[in-house]
Amino acid sequence: MIEVVCGDITALDVDAIVNAANNSLLGGGGVDGAIHRAAGPELLAFNRSLGGCRTGEAKLSPGFSLPARHVISTVGPVWHGGQQGEPELLESCYVSSLELALAHDIRSIAFPGISTGVYGFPKEQAAVIAIRAMQSYEARFERIIACCFSEADAALYREVLQEHS
Ligand code: ADP
Repeated sequence: MIEVVCGDITALDVDAIVNAANNSLLGGGGVDGAIHRAAGPELLAFNRSLGGCRTGEAKLSPGFSLPARHVISTVGPVWHGGQQGEPELLESCYVSSLELALAHDIRSIAFPGISTGVYGFPKEQAAVIAIRAMQSYEARFERIIACCFSEADAALYREVLQEHS
């Protein structure tokens, strides 16, 4: 069962929260900034050892001061109109994060809407990609949470879930 919740992903007590990071993994705005603030400076120090991350891939860090045990950082595509592999790259973010989680015995995981903030990916198309990927892994996890930052985003996810169930 995929859970749609509305709120701040940094507050979630799960095995892993996913960060919509940038290629440096050294912090930024939006959900990335919130996760770094809540995890504390150890996350930045740890991430310096990771050597960045390619778009569509994912890397694992400890959760440090977060309630979550781990942070999975993935780098979503910047939207350039949809003809530059953006949908495939976004799907790859979800799949890479879920595969990395499985490899580390992570049973509960929460995702923000990767690429749907500053990176400009259209929210509805992004929600369909996110839900489809989550559904294909749902049997292998105890909890998969879609953490929306607004009620409007949560309503969109619930609608997409209904259409794709
Ligand atoms: P990107 O650069 O990948 O677009 P953003 O951080 O700008 O990443 O936005 C990604 C999504 O995360 C947006 O839908 C935004 O509303 C949401 N968001 C921002 N802060 C938080 C937070 N603290 N918890 C959950 N979601 C958040």
